[in-house]
Amino acid sequence: MPRDRSLSRGCVLCHQGAKMVLFVTGLCPRSCWYCPLSRERKGKDVIYANEKRIHTPEEAAGVARLMSAFGTGITGGEPLIVLDRVQQFSRHLKTEFGESHHIHLYTGIAPGREQLLDLQGLVDEIRMHPPYETWDRILESGYKEAACTAREMGFSVGIEVPSLPGIGSLEVMLPFLDFLNINELEWGETNAGAMRERRLVPEDGVHNAVSGARGWAKSLISRQKVHWCSSRFKDSVQLRKRLLRVARNTARPFDQITRDGTVLYGTLENGGVVPPLFRQLEPDMYEVREGAIETAWWVITEFSDQLAGEKSIVERYPDRGLVVEVTPVA
Ligand code: SF4
Repeated sequence: MPRDRSLSRGCVLCHQGAKMVLFVTGLCPRSCWYCPLSRERKGKDVIYANEKRIHTPEEAAGVARLMSAFGTGITGGEPLIVLDRVQQFSRHLKTEFGESHHIHLYTGIAPGREQLLDLQGLVDEIRMHPPYETWDRILESGYKEAACTAREMGFSVGIEVPSLPGIGSLEVMLPFLDFLNINELEWGETNAGAMRERRLVPEDGVHNAVSGARGWAKSLISRQKVHWCSSRFKDSVQLRKRLLRVARNTARPFDQITRDGTVLYGTLENGGVVPPLFRQLEPDMYEVREGAIETAWWVITEFSDQLAGEKSIVERYPDRGLVVEVTPVA
């Protein structure tokens, strides 16, 4: 398949599910009505690597290793209000995985030369998110100058914004950018009220996309350097591929990896006593965890009547991530 020329290097790796998402802080001086941050993260000075709460650069490297990451996307909140942290984490990731570990950084701020100097050699790509109120006079804002300065200094530079009415005004920035990424506007737990106030509605009951979001960006989508990132794509390709990478590195011999990148296994709640039946299994086909026995889902269903205790099949994100479903077995 020919390479999509509007895609930045960061996006190419993201398409492969090979980018770790490093959320460096939930603090942000802005209050965009469409802000997608969850309650768990918004306004809190917390750090996450993918879905895992972490505290140190070493932990971030551990998460990157588990997914065989080729790069990292640094996001927030506003990463530049914790510039020292961005430097510390980026430096560690580049040291651990080499210069080729591609790092892109989101920021709502138009970075000045001083800030860019602090990021040089640590961050490869800068994705600016100018405030919505500036879009109709974007050339007069500081974002054009920031883009030109950053490009002169060797960064790849783009704008990345959600699709909102009036997004066509950003077209005038294209000559000064390497790319313009448009994310389909998404409905979330913290922005639902603001969406309703503006009479916006979700497109369907399955995805988070907001109805009409693609139409607002229509005049831009066909332009060179412009890339449209749909909500459906993020869920069905980006996340799935990332989960698959983690699952392949972390699944136990008895975990079944699903097409969605989740893992399936069976549990027996019996106080952690290994039933005699399990002696017939290879030793790596079961594990005692938190007072329960975990094994292949088919062991639980096939020998259910010979196993005393509560039995269930668990589907969850790999590396003991989010539990998607627990199905009791009679
Ligand atoms: S700049 Fe980003 S993190 Fe900050 S309020 Fe706006 S959408 Fe939320």
